[in-house]
Amino acid sequence: MSSQQKSQQTNQDANQSENQERTAQIESAVAQLIRALGDDPTRQGLKETPARAAKMYAELFAGIRYTNDEIAAQHGTTFPDPGTQMVLIKDIACFSFCEHHFALMYNMKAHVAYIPNGLVIGLSKVARIVDLVCKRFQLQERIASDIAYIMEKVLKTPDIMVVIEGEHSCMTARGIRAQGAKTRTHTARGKFEKDNALRMEVLQHV
Ligand code: ZN
Repeated sequence: MSSQQKSQQTNQDANQSENQERTAQIESAVAQLIRALGDDPTRQGLKETPARAAKMYAELFAGIRYTNDEIAAQHGTTFPDPGTQMVLIKDIACFSFCEHHFALMYNMKAHVAYIPNGLVIGLSKVARIVDLVCKRFQLQERIASDIAYIMEKVLKTPDIMVVIEGEHSCMTARGIRAQGAKTRTHTARGKFEKDNALRMEVLQHV
């Protein structure tokens, strides 16, 4: 094994034990939550739940462990393209958790528009960026600004617009129970911020 392979192996081992420790912590926290809610986490039906939930939450919040810059570096593969027409990637399905209630934001869609500055990005990369940004405690507005930040960085253009729509279970499942109420927010930068017609064009198409 080369020294580079060895240090990669050591990193992998360190990551693995860190992941195991994190999952064990989530597991005991879930058991505690079940108890605090008034049920018994050791009864038959719930016995395996803390372990299962821990695995699930570790996956659903995977984006917390990466900064926006790291996501840009790892998933921002672009290729050259001379086009200057607006590119609009519509209807990227996603979900997230609102940071105010730890509640699911669902039926979400992200729409991402940009004006190329010599570079374009593949659909699967944009979907991956959206997915990781959503896998954090979030606010709908910040999902849009995080995506815009990463897109600006990888595409080297300030001309980015991101529209997010979704339902928030903290509104639909509790309190006022506003069933079906969709919240739509957008972030418009560069030309999209300055040019009303361009911004309207995106909003009409999504
Ligand atoms: Zn909320």
